[in-house]
Amino acid sequence: MLRHLAGASALALVLAGGAVAQDHDHDHEDVTLYRVFVGDHEKGQVTAFDLSEPDHRWTFPTTGQVKLFPVAGGAVVAAVQSDADTVQFIRSGIAFHDHGDHRDIEVGDPAAIDASLTGPRPFHLVEHDGKVVLNYDQGGYAEILDGHALAEGKVEPVRFPQARAHHGFVAPLGDSWLSTIASDEKVEGDASVPRLGLQAFDAEGKPAGDLASCTAIHGEAFSGAYLAAGCKEGVLTVKAGANGPEYKLLPYPAELPQGVTTGTLLGSTGIQVFLGNYGPDGLVVIDPVDEPHYRYIKLPFRRVDFALDPAKPSTGYVLTEDGSLHRIDLLNAEIADSAKVTEPYSMDGHWNDPRPRIAMAGDEIVVTDPNAGLVRRIATEDLSERGTLPVEGKPYNIAVTGGSGVTH
Ligand code: ZN
Ligand code: ZN
Repeated sequence: MLRHLAGASALALVLAGGAVAQDHDHDHEDVTLYRVFVGDHEKGQVTAFDLSEPDHRWTFPTTGQVKLFPVAGGAVVAAVQSDADTVQFIRSGIAFHDHGDHRDIEVGDPAAIDASLTGPRPFHLVEHDGKVVLNYDQGGYAEILDGHALAEGKVEPVRFPQARAHHGFVAPLGDSWLSTIASDEKVEGDASVPRLGLQAFDAEGKPAGDLASCTAIHGEAFSGAYLAAGCKEGVLTVKAGANGPEYKLLPYPAELPQGVTTGTLLGSTGIQVFLGNYGPDGLVVIDPVDEPHYRYIKLPFRRVDFALDPAKPSTGYVLTEDGSLHRIDLLNAEIADSAKVTEPYSMDGHWNDPRPRIAMAGDEIVVTDPNAGLVRRIATEDLSERGTLPVEGKPYNIAVTGGSGVTH
């Protein structure tokens, strides 16, 4: 055994030596590739294309309408189909390998993974610490997948039991598993059950701590050391401590508009900050550590969708129902720039009516425009339109994988 290991390391060293020599030689190429995945609003279908070469195009049939999540470092796109009780997975065809001072990009065709998940109403997907977790809202359990295995096409779920089925989430944090907790009480005329807060469990679902109260908990996100989620009374923050999770509820301050709450949060990858919704026409920048914890941004119209820029951690984008896209400066909590990018899409009507969705692709924001049958490419620099790409049907939910790397 030892001899085998020693042999393997010697071989690895020789290979690494060869690779390093080649890295700094002439025989390499910088590649930037963003691959866009678009779910149709009506038809069970995902269209994928390369942003720079949209003729590179693929179609994947799905069981129902999808919400798309890039997972496993963008190696896989999860297609969550809540109404069809199904989660399908598509290998993006783009993989990165860290070589220390640079990373390699490997590009192939995207391909559907044969194995899928089925269960009663999968909804929230959480990815953290190499795990991908799906909550089954009508199942009373979550399923945990290993991100690396998923990137290799293996769908091997481990079940995490919950005491009561509800619209919630399960997330790993440090040595604990955190799960939302729902009440045992039935509310007359309401199919859902009241959500009470968050609690720590071991991997088998045995309680490992007390309930942290967070009424109607919804909208989990990670940034830095923190998980944050919205509640009726404020935002609950959690970080891993020496003796388990450390919770802190940040109450909404009096100077914020009253009677509304945060229910959707995004976590920055580059700085420890969250961007949340706050009422239909507001956003709030949340600092989990320093005061002021909340800084409010009033929008000119109701919000349709918002995203954070992973390349510029203090920047976000929000689309409002008048068809304007706004650049948000998180450091100053203000709108830095605005431009009209689509026709108006009213927020009156059903939450799941066809309206634009946005995603980041390097120095572009890609915007689905369901009524126009297009994906619009908007430059982050000045919010100008760089071009449009036709997508059959009603393009709706959107996810992007890719980035830049070296081939050699
Ligand atoms: Zn390399
Ligand atoms: Zn939800």
